[in-house]
Amino acid sequence: MTTFHLSGFPRVGAKRELKFAQERYWRGEIAEQDLLDIAKALREINWKHQAAANADYVAVADFTFYDHILDLQVATGAIPARFGFDSQHLTLDQYFQLARGNKTQFAIEMTKWFDTNYHYLVPEFQVDTQFKANPAHYVQQIREAKALGFNAKPTIVGPLTFLWLGKEKGSAFNRFDLLNKLLPIYVEILNALAKEGVDYIQIDEPALAVDLPEQWLAAYKEVYATLTTQVNAKLLLATYFGSVAEHADLLKSLPVAGLHIDVVRAPEQLSAFIDYDKILSVGIIDGRNIWRANLSQVLDIVEPLKAKFADRLWIAPSCSLLHSPYDLSVETQLQANKPELYHWLSFCLQKIQELRVIKTALEQGRQAVQAEIDASQAAADERANSKEIHRPEVATRLENLPKGADQRKSPFEERIKLQNSWLNLPLLPTTSIGSFPQTKEIRLARAAFKKGDLSVADYEAAMKKEIELVVREQEKLDLDVLVHGEAERNDMVEYFGELLEGFAFTKFGWVQSYGSRCVKPPVIYGDVVRPEPMTVRWSQYAQSLTKKVMKGMLTGPVTILQWSFVRNDIPRSTVCKQIAVALSDEVLDLEKAGIKVIQIDEPAIREGLPLKRADWDAYLQWAGEAFRLSSMGCQDDTQIHTHMCYSEFNDILPAIAALDADVITIETSRSDMELLTAFADFKYPNDIGPGVYDIHSPRVPTEAEVEHLLRKALQVVPKERLWVNPDCGLKTRGWTETIEQLNVMVNVTKKLRTELAQ
Ligand code: GLN
Ligand code: ZN
Repeated sequence: MTTFHLSGFPRVGAKRELKFAQERYWRGEIAEQDLLDIAKALREINWKHQAAANADYVAVADFTFYDHILDLQVATGAIPARFGFDSQHLTLDQYFQLARGNKTQFAIEMTKWFDTNYHYLVPEFQVDTQFKANPAHYVQQIREAKALGFNAKPTIVGPLTFLWLGKEKGSAFNRFDLLNKLLPIYVEILNALAKEGVDYIQIDEPALAVDLPEQWLAAYKEVYATLTTQVNAKLLLATYFGSVAEHADLLKSLPVAGLHIDVVRAPEQLSAFIDYDKILSVGIIDGRNIWRANLSQVLDIVEPLKAKFADRLWIAPSCSLLHSPYDLSVETQLQANKPELYHWLSFCLQKIQELRVIKTALEQGRQAVQAEIDASQAAADERANSKEIHRPEVATRLENLPKGADQRKSPFEERIKLQNSWLNLPLLPTTSIGSFPQTKEIRLARAAFKKGDLSVADYEAAMKKEIELVVREQEKLDLDVLVHGEAERNDMVEYFGELLEGFAFTKFGWVQSYGSRCVKPPVIYGDVVRPEPMTVRWSQYAQSLTKKVMKGMLTGPVTILQWSFVRNDIPRSTVCKQIAVALSDEVLDLEKAGIKVIQIDEPAIREGLPLKRADWDAYLQWAGEAFRLSSMGCQDDTQIHTHMCYSEFNDILPAIAALDADVITIETSRSDMELLTAFADFKYPNDIGPGVYDIHSPRVPTEAEVEHLLRKALQVVPKERLWVNPDCGLKTRGWTETIEQLNVMVNVTKKLRTELAQ
């Protein structure tokens, strides 16, 4: 027998039922009990799917109304004290207030769950945090599953990863020191789960896949010795998202009942655990991507393990299926439009069927599931040979890029002189990041156009009207470098994906991003080709309306890559370069059309950083090259801008400088220009536009606030190199506040200009 188990399932449902129920509940349209019932029904469906796929244990305790790390804060009593809530008697409304904020308290901060696009709520630890066990949420799920007759295996994140993911608040201390207080609480929680009669409890410690300090690593021994002796259930320690081979000795010495490792992400680590003498769970189906597995290749890996481990071999998805869309079989449109591609995909429900086949093959031999194995092989062969994805001209072009293709013709000091001589900009030039308010009218027009209710001509006319409005408003505001406003773009990645070949879009390929929010990433499945210009006519039209300089606007290759499901048959770096080369054609077309200031946005560049520092350089190398390639061949007097936001950039400044953009506009206002000091210390060589106000809020900053930030910027950036702009694009804002905010920005800039001229 081979045990097939799972770490977790998507919570939102096949058609985002949970999201819609939550939102209706928040709007007061349904009662709490309705929401609870909907959630319960979704859990039941999830378990039924798992059981139908022959899973030996269904995933339990993975369900959450918002986030599993928030659940853990409630379960351990570590909710932020500032809310004044009692974690032992937390209402659902209070739970949502923790996640979404209320009148007096801002929401718990969110950040990315390791290198995924899922966001968790960051625990706020204080030196005097009083932990208190409250396992009710988990216990209820176990009871529910058992009552329905399922074999439940609860999963919760372990104490070291939990502490690791949090932040210290209030006085200075080290949150690691809370471990002693936290551990007995974990014992209490886990024993409450054990009491429900579960065989195994899975404890996730993905922090083991990042660079943990020595002190933290060393703690694993004692923590797991304590948990194993004091908890009345067998413990399965799970790692994922990277290799833990360097900790193999430590992990093998822990007294837990078994270990789960991610063999999709880090197949090389398998050899380090080949002599493990307890349960080895191998994550062999990719929980984070959408590609169908080649089952015979997977079996080539697991059959020898089966021979060695016998019943101690467990199989599973690489990580929780939370990161995978729900069900491919509802993608009828994709099936009709791209039947080849459809065959190559596998969503959550298909992945668990793949595991069923593998389990059967391991138990009864391959011949018992030969048809499934053959079908997966046929799909793999079809994919390997498809003319639709392998386009020799793309590979040839990449191979034959001239030497130094990713370098501008001249160094920045020379380029900027040529640029300044035609740009004629005042000191502290003002600009914006690209988008202007995406009003209801714009969204309605786009929806009507997509449905076929609005003709191409009418849609074009509507967008042109918007562009004209945006241009006129910017002229009135007296901004220096204008933008066309991006009205024609639904989303900064989807827009380009739809115009590039090699990309596909699903209808239901939703993945939870945070709480009730889901994203539907494009699928990059083939070699990338730009069949025709994508932005030129919009930018050209915008330029025709004004004598001021119009800035062209592109999304960069790294960001397009980062926010998509990426093909797994060639390296990510190659895909990224393909996108870059396609974008470079756009840059040259813009240049030819007279658009000679071009911004290439890379807000996601930092998100792509590998979990381990040792891998950073290699990534930054190819990401930087791809960025530079995307403007390859442009003239020295063409000014390339880039824009970054969402992250802290202090630790990758050399890599940002190496992008060699003529101007970088960057989010800084929320940190009171702290970032800028880092730029100054590093002596960032090129022009820089720190954001002078936060675009996430409708609040209009006072002139004094903007002046404060600009003066701070002037202290560290030479005035000749300083630009003035908001933190990011304005598409989520309304028009009234946008005009007022930009007005403040321009007024303050003019005042400082006069002062600087004296
Ligand atoms: N140009 C984009 C905009 O203005 C940039 C968005 C972003 O950085 N996330 O909306
Ligand atoms: Zn931004």
